[in-house]
Amino acid sequence: MPRDADAAAESNLPLDAHLHTDQSPDSSVPIDVYAALAVERGIPEICITDHVDFDPRDPAYQYSRYEDRERVVRGAAERWADRGVTIRFGAELTYNRRWEDDVRAHLARYRYDYVIGSVHDWPESPYWPSRVRAWIEGRSLEEVLEPYYTEIIAAARSGLFDTIGHLDVVKRYLHPSITAAQLATRQDLQEPALRAIVESGVALEVNSSGLRYPGAETYPSKSVVARYRELGGERVVVGSDAHSRGSFAHRLSDAYGHLIDAGFGDLTFRRGPERVRIEVPGGTRLGTAEGLRS
Ligand SMILES: [Zn+2]
Ligand SMILES: [Zn+2]
Repeated sequence: MPRDADAAAESNLPLDAHLHTDQSPDSSVPIDVYAALAVERGIPEICITDHVDFDPRDPAYQYSRYEDRERVVRGAAERWADRGVTIRFGAELTYNRRWEDDVRAHLARYRYDYVIGSVHDWPESPYWPSRVRAWIEGRSLEEVLEPYYTEIIAAARSGLFDTIGHLDVVKRYLHPSITAAQLATRQDLQEPALRAIVESGVALEVNSSGLRYPGAETYPSKSVVARYRELGGERVVVGSDAHSRGSFAHRLSDAYGHLIDAGFGDLTFRRGPERVRIEVPGGTRLGTAEGLRS
């Protein structure tokens, strides 16, 4: 796509539902920067999803207090409400079965507008940078992916989350020992996770941050989004997972494009008590005559 067409597409996006501010340990962006960028780009709704970790060795473990995050985000929401952007208060919770009870307790105690459940490379995981290379050695792709997707499936089935974040971010942990191209030859290995997501009714996130990393694909890739649709998946959402000013909504239109190509017409999002569908501009609305477009 030519650069200005790209810029035009980037300016007609209804939502960026995955953003990290300086209340995450790996970002230093003040919330007002994202709000101003959203207004500038004409993105009417954004959701702040700072990290919440549950293992004391993880960087976002008690990095910021719920009360502070809530105050900052709600305060910004108020300041920006009349200036063209609605700001939602969300969180990205790192999921693992070993601390599922803690996640459940956290969500019972604290209220968010929207919650992403993500699997990251937990401290004992084979994907930890210092051991991943040696661990991969001599293992099949199936064996290599198994620990990660076991957690994803459990996250989907836990019923705790609105959305499963960056489905196959594991490919970032495996690079360069195993490339995205190699993984693409065995997309069947993701199938049980996709089925668990479809069956549980949690939404699938199409996360454009993968386009900034080797492999240069969204998490998950376009063909996986299409496969999810084939399997009966109906709930999708998008996010840029920005941790810096420059990655705000970066190539988010690619993620929207994947949804449109797969036949989705709506995002599924939550605004506190209300689960909503948000129309994807140019998308195919499910269950309407437009769904028959060629
Ligand atoms: Zn994440
Ligand atoms: Zn994130």
